[in-house]
Amino acid sequence: MSDVSRAEILALEKVELHQHVDGSIPLPILWRTMVENGLNPVDSMEEMKKMVILQADEEGTLLRYLEKFHYPLWVTQFYENIVEVVEGIVAAAASQGVKVLELRYAPLIHTFGGLTIRQAIRSVLTGLNHGAEENDLQVGLIIIAMRHHGPHIAKILARSAISEAQHLHQAAGVIGFDIAGAEVGNPPRLFAEAYRIANAGQLGLTAHVGEDEGPEMIWQAVDTLGVDRIGHGCSATSDRELMRRLARDKIMVECCLTSNRQTGSIFPGEPHSIYAFLEAGVPVAICTDNTTVSATDQVKENLLASTNLKLDDLATIHRRARRASFIAGLDA
Ligand SMILES: [Zn+2]
Repeated sequence: MSDVSRAEILALEKVELHQHVDGSIPLPILWRTMVENGLNPVDSMEEMKKMVILQADEEGTLLRYLEKFHYPLWVTQFYENIVEVVEGIVAAAASQGVKVLELRYAPLIHTFGGLTIRQAIRSVLTGLNHGAEENDLQVGLIIIAMRHHGPHIAKILARSAISEAQHLHQAAGVIGFDIAGAEVGNPPRLFAEAYRIANAGQLGLTAHVGEDEGPEMIWQAVDTLGVDRIGHGCSATSDRELMRRLARDKIMVECCLTSNRQTGSIFPGEPHSIYAFLEAGVPVAICTDNTTVSATDQVKENLLASTNLKLDDLATIHRRARRASFIAGLDA
């Protein structure tokens, strides 16, 4: 049992490296935006809650988890709505003691209402900039290419991401590139050219991998995409050579404790892979993935991790995560 208190974790300076915009819209904001726009499929926020938060009897598969993004996407097709939800996400993170916040987002699935890819990216950056002005934290955006849209679209998105890169602008900008969505049938090697473009544009490289597939896909992400970090990577623990490689090259794994159980990446009763990574010397970050869909937050995730870690260990993890952040210009 942990001897770390909630108050100690709240006071800890935390770094969030893996959090999705559409899965993290604070419920009251989602509900209000739905009602204002006549988009609410049910009559109360309580009923809506069940539709956007993964329920216990829905746990166990990635595809079921991804279904929870259906309704939030009705709202996030419009510029002002996107700005508003991102401001809410930043404020919620700041209230949890998050000092470095990297949000991630797939612009293409926010263009159904007619926004261009550029507008879909700018709207999030506007929300991030407003949020950073009003709260004491550093922010940046990782652009996601959905795997099922294919490698060619991923290349187009990598180029769009570069045009909004942080190093080209004064304010918060795009800091990284990622792929996400169903892994099966969409191996990382298909996206090598998109990653080469993103890398040439000085974006940080991460990839959702090893959540729904085995370690061979993580090898591909490391060898073929040249990732700096990995999202989830749970299946790496079954491959000792891969663990040594991740440790040697200091490839940080963005660990999402609650989400990984919900998607079935970690089986019930099995210890989370974060402890095996730490044991093997692989750098890790403690992340929420989706605060709304997973009904979690930074404090809860750190409390969960603290069942086998001390407060000092948590502080070290967040210090290292800060160094691995793609946001440029963070003072050490
Ligand atoms: Zn994720």
